[in-house]
Amino acid sequence: MGESLLPATLAVLDDIGVLPFIEAEGFVRKAGATMSWGREAEPWSWYFAETNRRFPHSYQVWRPRFDQILLEHSARSGARVRQGEAVRSIHEGGVELATGARVEAAMVVDATGQGALVATKRGLQEWDPFFRNLAVYGYFAGGRHLDPPDDGNIFIEAYEHGWLWKIPLAGGVSSVGAVVDRDYGAAEIRNRGRDRFFGDQVAAATRSSALLEGAVLRDGPFAVRDWSWCAKAMTGPGFVLVGDAACFIDPLFSTGVHLAVSGAHLAASYVTTALRTPSLAGAAAESYERLYRTQYRHFHELATLFYASNRARDSYFWEARRLTGAQRGDPRAAFVHAVSGQAAAGYERSVLGHGALPEDFATALEAELAGREARRMRPDGTTRVRMATGLEVREAAVLGDGCFEAGYVIAGPDRDDLPVSTLVASLAHRARGATLDAIAEGIAHANDADLPRVREAAVAAAELLIADGVLEVCDPVP
Ligand SMILES: Cc1cc2nc3c(=O)[nH]c(=O)nc-3n(C[C@H](O)[C@H](O)[C@H](O)COP(=O)(O)OP(=O)(O)OC[C@H]3O[C@@H](n4cnc5c(N)ncnc54)[C@H](O)[C@@H]3O)c2cc1C
Repeated sequence: MGESLLPATLAVLDDIGVLPFIEAEGFVRKAGATMSWGREAEPWSWYFAETNRRFPHSYQVWRPRFDQILLEHSARSGARVRQGEAVRSIHEGGVELATGARVEAAMVVDATGQGALVATKRGLQEWDPFFRNLAVYGYFAGGRHLDPPDDGNIFIEAYEHGWLWKIPLAGGVSSVGAVVDRDYGAAEIRNRGRDRFFGDQVAAATRSSALLEGAVLRDGPFAVRDWSWCAKAMTGPGFVLVGDAACFIDPLFSTGVHLAVSGAHLAASYVTTALRTPSLAGAAAESYERLYRTQYRHFHELATLFYASNRARDSYFWEARRLTGAQRGDPRAAFVHAVSGQAAAGYERSVLGHGALPEDFATALEAELAGREARRMRPDGTTRVRMATGLEVREAAVLGDGCFEAGYVIAGPDRDDLPVSTLVASLAHRARGATLDAIAEGIAHANDADLPRVREAAVAAAELLIADGVLEVCDPVP
């Protein structure tokens, strides 16, 4: 599983130099997603091109090949690869193999997937009460997919007992899976058997089953517990958790591989920092966890909202998720803030627009968008600024080129930490009602820098910080 990828993953694959090998493989190009979900049952599509200029597409991959390409690339890049060796336990200073042999290592990366070696042994798993689902899936040969331009899209169809995915893979194969309530699915599989249960789910999703007319189930069905969780701690003495070994979210938005790949990229930076600059190891561990959790929460919130916003079907499955959605309490302010600006994956707002969003979230988002619009202005040297109440500039380990470095973030309640350059940190630090000219002069003087260039950079940065609500404009001095 994990065949439908996001464009944001391609940026990481490009950075580590493996993208050309992925592109050459002939995987199906994925332009976006088509969903029968939300306000009405009629399918609608959203496209990565709407929000992602660098990678307006992604891929539907055959995981054994995709994983093999990544493995070969790591060997090419200098990693020593040992295959077919199971790890029994991880301890400080290395791992113990199933054979009893020990392998020493200054740092162990636990990437054991849902097996989650460290998290299970140390009792770090925190299960999510909302996404207690189960998936049954298999592979069909033949049948049809959507018409162009949606022929590479993942098709997601909400039906009575949950939702079904249909992913077009190369060679006319379709990956098809149903996500249902865990208790319901487990009981029905016991009663009816897995084959019949899977057949019934496919038949109940009428649009998908129409596409599968004449197709033959070639492999499966398989059943897998698909129960979301997150580790209480993602780092510890001599280890770091990544991918499904660190957290797992419901597969609705195809975020698992992205979290694994981008998490691995971050983990590599953390390990490099911990080994090369031990004095920064603690701060880097903190930043690793914060960045990872921010992504996790973001995708989690998006999936929760989208389950709660489906009105296309009525049943126990959907009613239960609506209630939980409404009972969540206030929408998380940091998520509302992120969605109103530059959201993590870029597509959140276009997707959420299709759902019947819970009223509290819709109101909070509208207020945030209106606030952002109202703050938009063009400052100049005479504009007086101050930091918004509750925000502060904090020293933190920030992501540099392949490692963490000492740097700054702007932090405060109800928003994700914003990493900033030294110039922006100085600007925010000095923003106590002074004009941008005076602030720029102070920065240029303290750093022996060219004043016109500092002034230009300060005014440009202030424009973004004002729109984002980090800086407030003070009334001119009478
Ligand atoms: C129903 C369902 C559908 C999904 N659909 C999508 C999707 O469309 N798109 C998407 O992005 N994500 C999807 N996901 C999520 C995705 O499958 C995972 O998030 C992703 O595969 C995680 O990658 P990983 O490398 O962390 O773990 P894995 O891919 O599980 O890899 C873990 C590896 O560790 C090895 N291993 C485990 N234990 C040991 C040990 N003790 N010793 C040695 N090796 C070990 C395993 O053999 C395996 O090779 C889906 C998940 C589910 C449940």
